[in-house]
Amino acid sequence: MRLRLVLYFTLIVLVSVGSMVIIARYSTAREVRAYMFRGGMVGVEELVSTLEDYYLRNQSWQGAESLLSSPGFGHGRRLGSQGNATPGQMGMGAMMGQRLRLADASGRIIADTAGQNTNSPLNSVELEAAVPLQAGDEIVGYLIAEGGAAFDRNDEVYLVSRLSRAAMIAATISVVFSLLLALFFSYRLLLPVHALTKAATQLAKGDLSGRVVVEGDDELATLGKAFNHMASSLQRVEENRQAMTADIAHELRTPLAVQRAHLEALQDGVYPTTTDNLTPILEQNLVLTRLVDDLRTLALADGGQLHLECKPTDFPDLVKHVVDRFTPQANAHGVSIKLSIENPCPPIAVDPGRIEQILGNLLSNGLRYSSDGDQVELKVSSTSKAVQLTVRDSGPGIPEDSLPRIFDRFYRADRSRSRIEGGTGLGLAIARQLAQAHGGTLVAANYPYGGAVFTLELPINREKRPEN
Ligand code: ADP
Repeated sequence: MRLRLVLYFTLIVLVSVGSMVIIARYSTAREVRAYMFRGGMVGVEELVSTLEDYYLRNQSWQGAESLLSSPGFGHGRRLGSQGNATPGQMGMGAMMGQRLRLADASGRIIADTAGQNTNSPLNSVELEAAVPLQAGDEIVGYLIAEGGAAFDRNDEVYLVSRLSRAAMIAATISVVFSLLLALFFSYRLLLPVHALTKAATQLAKGDLSGRVVVEGDDELATLGKAFNHMASSLQRVEENRQAMTADIAHELRTPLAVQRAHLEALQDGVYPTTTDNLTPILEQNLVLTRLVDDLRTLALADGGQLHLECKPTDFPDLVKHVVDRFTPQANAHGVSIKLSIENPCPPIAVDPGRIEQILGNLLSNGLRYSSDGDQVELKVSSTSKAVQLTVRDSGPGIPEDSLPRIFDRFYRADRSRSRIEGGTGLGLAIARQLAQAHGGTLVAANYPYGGAVFTLELPINREKRPEN
């Protein structure tokens, strides 16, 4: 890419310098020629006014050629290049080496002291350099005085070639400098690209820690930021994947070990094969089954494959149903459940089974963290856009540092207590995924007077199920 950039730079430099040289050469030649002509004009003011007077008197140029060769005209500041002519031999202009030409209003030559080209038209350069002769406001002819200057045709060629040479040298120097600059700039320009290539190669080899240093605010800096963002996301996903694998292995180990110990004891005859001795094995099997079910639900939600069987549902009724299911368990622990419905809710299209799963998780957590005499309070309310359920307990609440993480998979604020009580650390992660699959939200907070509050919000009119 650097080579290509340098080539592009070179091409641009060559084209611009080349065109500059061509234009400069052309306009220099033109200017030199015009200057030559103009040079001859200095000192012919007297002849100009004589010619103009002549035309005014005669209303024509007939016989005017005699004026060009009359002595007394054309002298002035200029020095003739043919300094050997003497006054009196010819008109002063011609005597000083000047060639005088008179043209009519259309530019056709009518008199020439060199005796050539009469009747031929002046070319555009000559016309541009000629002194217009006026009768009143009207241009009636042109006077060209040339050759009296320090320039002749050879001088012109010499001067133009010298100027061209100088232009070529200037062009060569600027090409060399431009190429050096092109090399430098392409090197600088490609530095971030090299850094990106290096970091991307590192990433491709599996090292996700590679980042690029981002400087400035241009397109390459934006690309660098996007790359860093992508690398961070990949790293986070990879860390989560590794943590999840480790967590799953960890969660499987305990129930499997318990089952194995019991089975070995039964096999060795340490325990008699009775229903009582089979119960712990069955319990651990249930733990494993639940874990596998939870993991499957999460995997489906992650892949956007979670199938919801949505139908119009009376949300308060559904909550009542779940509360009834948990009441015996709550009563057994001396905990009461209070349900209040703030205002009537319109039916909402949800998958009742999945919503029950969310409510079941929130209620069982609420009961788990409540003590004898505590109350778990559920409040249902609705707005024109959403229905809301809050589940508040009067337990210890969630440690502040754990609040941002309790929806993470396998996260438990109090590991030992949660596991003993059968928690896998997946309940809230699943509940939030299910809420999101319904287009809703699930958030947690601590109640100012103690206890945790979970708020589930579900939209009443969900346009499209988000792809998680
Ligand atoms: P688990 O199955 O272990 O309960 P959850 O995902 O349901 O997993 O909860 C994650 C963690 O959040 C729990 O381990 C606990 O530390 C915390 N938690 C959940 N609900 C409550 C609550 N009502 N009060 C206090 N802490 C809670």
